[in-house]
Amino acid sequence: MTATTLIQNLPAGDAVATHKPILRERGQHEVFCGLTSIIWLHRKMQDAFFLIVGSRTCAHLMQSAAGVMIFAEPRFATAIIGERDLAGMADLNDELDGIVERLLARRPEIRMLVLVGSCPSEVIKLDLDRAAGRLNKIHAPDCRVMAYSGSGIETTFTQGEDNFLSALVADMPAEEPDAGPSLIVVGSLADVVEDQFTRILQGFGVRKIAFLPSRTSRDLPPVGPNTRFILAQPFDNVTAQALVRRGAQQIFGPFPYGEWGTTGWLRAIAEAFDVDPERFAAITGPGRNRARQALEHYRGQLAGKRVFFFPDSQMEPSLARFLHGEMQAEIQEVGTPYLHRAHVAADLAALPETVQISEGQDVDRQIDRARAAEPDLIVCGMGLANPFEVEGYSTKWSIEFVFSPIQGYEQAGDLAELFARPLVRRSRLKVEA
Ligand code: SF4
Repeated sequence: MTATTLIQNLPAGDAVATHKPILRERGQHEVFCGLTSIIWLHRKMQDAFFLIVGSRTCAHLMQSAAGVMIFAEPRFATAIIGERDLAGMADLNDELDGIVERLLARRPEIRMLVLVGSCPSEVIKLDLDRAAGRLNKIHAPDCRVMAYSGSGIETTFTQGEDNFLSALVADMPAEEPDAGPSLIVVGSLADVVEDQFTRILQGFGVRKIAFLPSRTSRDLPPVGPNTRFILAQPFDNVTAQALVRRGAQQIFGPFPYGEWGTTGWLRAIAEAFDVDPERFAAITGPGRNRARQALEHYRGQLAGKRVFFFPDSQMEPSLARFLHGEMQAEIQEVGTPYLHRAHVAADLAALPETVQISEGQDVDRQIDRARAAEPDLIVCGMGLANPFEVEGYSTKWSIEFVFSPIQGYEQAGDLAELFARPLVRRSRLKVEA
């Protein structure tokens, strides 16, 4: 099947690929909590400050995950719940009000303060939504205060972004009754990727284009029945539901990884906006060619390689589709923390039926399956990567797919390179040993 026929045969949004048996596992799991999403969200939304209400563990997590960023006076911090708070000797709400007061006095440039719930704040039932409402009365309109949960009890890694964006949806203004059609691209993308997509979409003739999250809290786009939206990240599921509840219509397609994925994603938008097929071909043609050439360069290193994905970010089914469909790799297992089948339907449909999809994790059993499968490349978190390397496997840290610009035509080669690099490094080390 050629790329073109695959794209033409993309399932409609509500079509669900039912032919693959899904392995559902619950047990010990090795994943990040949703707090980690603050690391990219605070860089994306430049006038927001994220205040975690949590423990020293949460502060340590952020310190180690953010690495050198913590030296650059970042726009996030942890209000640590101390023993006095836990013993009921201090009123937590009064303490929080005092911290927020001091923080905003010191950082007057902050326009949105986000209270982020953690495991400890949830376990002691500190109502951060209510606290945000109270603080908002004091500090708005200079600074808007809102809340969401990033706790490990409720969220895995990228779900923190989903919770934040769905909270933003509640803040978005209603579109005017006579508003023309508009498009919202949902999911944090690197600025360079946003700019490239904007140019292509303007070429289609789409006039009103917005991204969620917006670059500042003051640019939240209006939403209503004339708004269409498409996910650019597979993990923003609750946000999609929140937008639909506000009347917006969802566009479904594959995720924009590689030449095929990007074309399918753009085609879904083009069809929703009645873009003439010739115009579509003319606008996307140069980018498609550049992406194809870039991918060609890495195909020799990836074709036929057996790849095993551990769950991390929910991007795994779409990344596996890219590796299989565009790089001819053999996919052994695709682990994902959660599988929202309707959102990844197009990518799942393009994966062979033999691929084992697993949802959730029982890490010891999954490690056993990975060893038995003898993969050429294991995509996994940092906690598993070095131990697997010691056993002789090549690994790729999955977190890099969240932090690197990988979407769109111009980044297709970089995406392939992320997978190819560990394989090349291992073969070089062998030769030189
Ligand atoms: S929110 Fe929970 S899982 Fe995340 S660092 Fe804090 S205690 Fe740990």
